[in-house]
Amino acid sequence: MSSLREFQCEICGLVSENPTRWFVIECGDQKLSVIKWDLTAALSPTARHFCGEAHAQVYISRWFESICTPPPRHSLRTL
Ligand SMILES: [Zn+2]
Repeated sequence: MSSLREFQCEICGLVSENPTRWFVIECGDQKLSVIKWDLTAALSPTARHFCGEAHAQVYISRWFESICTPPPRHSLRTL
């Protein structure tokens, strides 16, 4: 198996094979967690990847805004 892994920033689409200064965000309806780059966290199926603080903040802002709008009809929960 190849050990090469690429991650893509959710905001700008930047791809990196060694994103050591990136951030991982895990979020749900009630909680959002920001994690300094950690491969284990990054490989979680629910993890989102950001190339830096600025883009992590873009996502966090969207998440805050989403609290104020009604949730979509289809459920976000697939588990
Ligand atoms: Zn980015």
